[in-house]
Amino acid sequence: MTEFRRRYSDQPVTVARQHISRLAFLLAGLLIAVTSASLLFVGFIASQASTEQAIANEQRLFRNTLADRMRVLVREQITVASSDNSVAGLVLNFNANYAYKAIDTLWSDYRHSKVMVISGDGHVLAESFEHYTHILKRPIAETPELAILFEKTKDLFEKNRVRVPEGYGHRSLQGVNPDEYALMGFTEIDGRPAMFGAVPVIPDDYENVLPDGPPTVILSAHYIDETLLRQVNAQLNFASLKFVTDAPADSAAFHMIANPDEESIGFFTWDSQTIGNAIWPTIIPVIVLLSISLAALAFGIAWRIGQLTSSLQASEQQNRHLALHDTLTGLANRLQFNRVLATSVKSLPEKQFAVIHCDLDKFKAVNDTFGHAAGDLVIKTMAGRLKKVIGQEGLVCRVGGDEFMIIYRKTTDRENLHKLSTELVETAQTPIAIRDEGEATIGLSVGIAVAPEDGSTTESLVARSDAALYKSKKLGRNRYSLFSDFFDNKGDPEEPPLSLEDPKPQARAVKAG
Ligand code: GH3
Ligand code: MG
Repeated sequence: MTEFRRRYSDQPVTVARQHISRLAFLLAGLLIAVTSASLLFVGFIASQASTEQAIANEQRLFRNTLADRMRVLVREQITVASSDNSVAGLVLNFNANYAYKAIDTLWSDYRHSKVMVISGDGHVLAESFEHYTHILKRPIAETPELAILFEKTKDLFEKNRVRVPEGYGHRSLQGVNPDEYALMGFTEIDGRPAMFGAVPVIPDDYENVLPDGPPTVILSAHYIDETLLRQVNAQLNFASLKFVTDAPADSAAFHMIANPDEESIGFFTWDSQTIGNAIWPTIIPVIVLLSISLAALAFGIAWRIGQLTSSLQASEQQNRHLALHDTLTGLANRLQFNRVLATSVKSLPEKQFAVIHCDLDKFKAVNDTFGHAAGDLVIKTMAGRLKKVIGQEGLVCRVGGDEFMIIYRKTTDRENLHKLSTELVETAQTPIAIRDEGEATIGLSVGIAVAPEDGSTTESLVARSDAALYKSKKLGRNRYSLFSDFFDNKGDPEEPPLSLEDPKPQARAVKAG
């Protein structure tokens, strides 16, 4: 396609509209991306929250389990500590054999890994490790950790102590929580972290009563060792449960233990069983479902917009075509001719062109003889012939009933224009068959003005091509005339011809075939 054709053919000017559907698809994609990202974010937050909640639950469970084990430890101690015999053998008169027996009971029956008997005056009287018991008299002040436990147990005892005939006893343990009469918790014994219970020795049947003064205390402990971890884990089944002295990473599940002075002793840690993002199996299908629904909806809307846009484009293109084209012949109409002529004039003087004005000769006769429809056929046929002769080198327009105008760009050379005009006139002469009624033979009159030589405005070029056409008509039709062949207008090409009379005799009649 030549540049000329490209410029004046019907190009879709609504290219911008195509972007609407593209934009709709883009927005749909964006919407899905944003929604999915939001859901992922919500899922992430929810999973964080649920993980934190799960860890908190496991920590509570772990704390309760340890508290239970300490209560059990104290209840086991009570079997020895709450006894008239123990009051006699450990408090009133310390009896080493009784001490051996008592401590041995706690080892053999309950596997307390460490047991001590501490006298009211602050001495460790007996001390065991597993079933080896040593009788001694070591001031408790030598071991500050134990001194604290002893002091606190003493305080508890004083709250629970009751006056009885000839001495002191202890309020009934029936239905009382162990932590109300016994001290329990964690401490370091012999440098090892341990869970302990400290219980005062008290009478049970009051055959013996306590003297005034601080209590004798039985202190039992389980070291926090593999055995204890195994036992706790038998209850909880926590993955990788272990005890460490250094603080674990923030994210890990752990439980810190501290001594009665609230100084850290170490940490139980484990792998939380629910950190496995239990929320995702719920969130992911929701995201997928929602994304699919949104995608379907958004793409549906985008597709519909695309459809509407296309039909709008099509009808706009059609309207544009109708506005600029003649419906009978499909040629450009006068409006299009005027536009193209105006544009062509702007590119003068570099790009010269010719305006060729054509009018069918005695066309009315066709209408009169064969009817209007036949006239239409003749106009259409002539339009086709003119277009064929001009080809891609110019724009053929129907500007009136049997009137055509051509903007011709290929050449403004006189000789070539003569040849072209001859061809135009000759092509019109071929008879046109009118159904079964016969044939119409008509001629074509042509007038040519060359830009910029004959004029460089739209008005002057139209007027001068018209003048040349008029000259052809006047000289007998079926011929062509170049404006410059008839009129001297070199001095002022902008001016239309003053007179069409006095023609120079250069009009060319073309012989009918
Ligand atoms: P001349 O040689 O002087 O040009 O004479 P002419 O008979 O061709 O008459 P003229 O060009 O002045 O008029 C053209 C006629 O064409 C006028 C009108 O009746 C007829 N006409 C105009 N438009 C149409 C159309 O669309 N279809 C048909 N069939 N006839 C038309
Ligand atoms: Mg005519």
